[in-house]
Amino acid sequence: MTKPLIGITASAIDHRGPAYGEVYALTRQYAEGVVRAGGVPVIVPYNLDEDALRVLFDRIDGLLLSGGGDIDPASYGEPTHPATSNIEADRDRVELVLARWVVEKEKPFLAICRGIQVLNVALGGTLVQDIPSEVPDALEHSFERGIVERDYHAHPVKIAADSRLAQVMQTEIVQTNSWHHQAIKQAASKLKVTAYAPDGVIEAVEVPGRRFAIGVQWHPEWMFEDQPEMLRLFEGLVEASGVNG
Ligand code: MN
Repeated sequence: MTKPLIGITASAIDHRGPAYGEVYALTRQYAEGVVRAGGVPVIVPYNLDEDALRVLFDRIDGLLLSGGGDIDPASYGEPTHPATSNIEADRDRVELVLARWVVEKEKPFLAICRGIQVLNVALGGTLVQDIPSEVPDALEHSFERGIVERDYHAHPVKIAADSRLAQVMQTEIVQTNSWHHQAIKQAASKLKVTAYAPDGVIEAVEVPGRRFAIGVQWHPEWMFEDQPEMLRLFEGLVEASGVNG
């Protein structure tokens, strides 16, 4: 069997600074998870026009929407909160289109962190723009980068027993890392909420009835070395993507 081709979206934000010119930036761990699961990763440039994007989309067997900055709140009809940051217009455009297509065409996908938010907004949902200022008694969902380890267990997540997510991860309680200050507010009607943090923050969604159509708010790409249930997310994506590949 040919190895499935998994498109992974990228960012324009280069932490080395503007002296290096424009970049397609992607934390390697996302691609590493796909490789480890038996897939072939391909980075999706954020500035493709829709025709080019369609060519790429038609070739990939599955899609991984990666983490990143905040989505322009105009996409879901709200004014920008002062804490909303790192908006990338090109990336928003490309990912919102891809998220709609991937659901429409029933291709397998895994949406991580910003990815779950893109998915929700693409399908008509809204976001909490800043958890600390909008969710009463919220837990800590975001930590100081470079100080706290990327796989730090921030909070547990309770997964719905009847979800595809619980089936894939083979568990209903999981300890997750947490690197987000935004979250799903109103879930899109096509999405089923499948997991919550103890403070009520939505941590996972899926499109019911699909082989693999899952979004998670945490970062499994930093946890699969030590937690096999996290690797199973990548394996589930690659396996489902290979069915028609
Ligand atoms: Mn969290």
